[in-house]
Amino acid sequence: MIISGKDIAAQLRSDMQQQVDAMAELYGRTPNLVVIQVGDDPASSIYVRNKMRAAEFCHIRSQHILLPADITEQELCGQIDRLNNDDDVDGILVQLPLPAHINEEHVIRAIRAEKDVDGFHPTNAAHLWLHQPLVKAHVATIYNPVPDYGCTIACTPKGILSLLASTGVELDGKRAVMVGRSDIVGKPMAKLLMDRQCTVTVAHSHTRDLPAVCREADILIVAVGKPKLITCDCIKPGAIVIDVGISRLPDGSLSGDVDYEACKDIASFITPVPGGVGPMTVTMLMQNTIDCFRRRRVKS
Ligand code: NDP
Repeated sequence: MIISGKDIAAQLRSDMQQQVDAMAELYGRTPNLVVIQVGDDPASSIYVRNKMRAAEFCHIRSQHILLPADITEQELCGQIDRLNNDDDVDGILVQLPLPAHINEEHVIRAIRAEKDVDGFHPTNAAHLWLHQPLVKAHVATIYNPVPDYGCTIACTPKGILSLLASTGVELDGKRAVMVGRSDIVGKPMAKLLMDRQCTVTVAHSHTRDLPAVCREADILIVAVGKPKLITCDCIKPGAIVIDVGISRLPDGSLSGDVDYEACKDIASFITPVPGGVGPMTVTMLMQNTIDCFRRRRVKS
């Protein structure tokens, strides 16, 4: 069965619209997201446009700040600091990648953790790893896929848990294989799956016999960036397959990391590319913005 991230994302965005409208009544204002883009890289411009459109749909206020590619790190961090201190700003996102002369880690650290809607700030990442939420008390649904960690969870892994919730399959005790160990997808995903009582293996570029490792998986999640790396001999019959990868092929089309046509009849559930994980990532960014707003209101 196909898991349509596009359809689930549409459902979630309608729900968020209502949440935001209710917030406007309750607090007299709506969440406010600021997206900073440095330089005008065409791929980044598309991602930023998608985020602004999603915000508009959800009735979240948003502002796009386009800065010149030759801005210094200090100037960029100065802009971030101004937004950190602006009480009307709830979420700050810096579109990655940044030009080579700017250290991304410094910039991510410059964003105040409570306004870090991407969940990349070390405080948020550490909180995810060190906090043991009350998983038993939490019923995962597409609307509420993760228990309360009290911090921002990276958008892509959070969206994947929503996709998994849509299958109705119980995760407790399942074997999960996460291919890829990046800070933004693989690592947080592995922790979230562990917390859902999965037995998790993390594979990477040094993993020996990747197909054999993947065949162990009841839940296979792939975030590598290599088109069709995962072939039919990597899939255990009945597995749930989540394809995070997006690559543009020479003919201009998009491809995931999974050979979709070859794997779709072996898997019980599978995400397409496009229309799978991508729309969920943007949607979870909206949810994170709403959550940052809510947490800041509760504190003040
Ligand atoms: P990174 O480049 O940061 O990480 C890639 C990971 O893949 C690394 O851990 C690397 O291993 C591993 N890897 C590389 N080659 C192999 C191999 N042959 N076998 C097994 N593992 C391998 O990528 P990201 O996590 O940022 O993104 C991965 C993909 O997902 C990209 O296509 C990206 O565009 C896409 N993406 C999509 C999103 C969405 O919303 N749909 C969101 C985020 C990413 P090692 O650590 O050893 O180098």
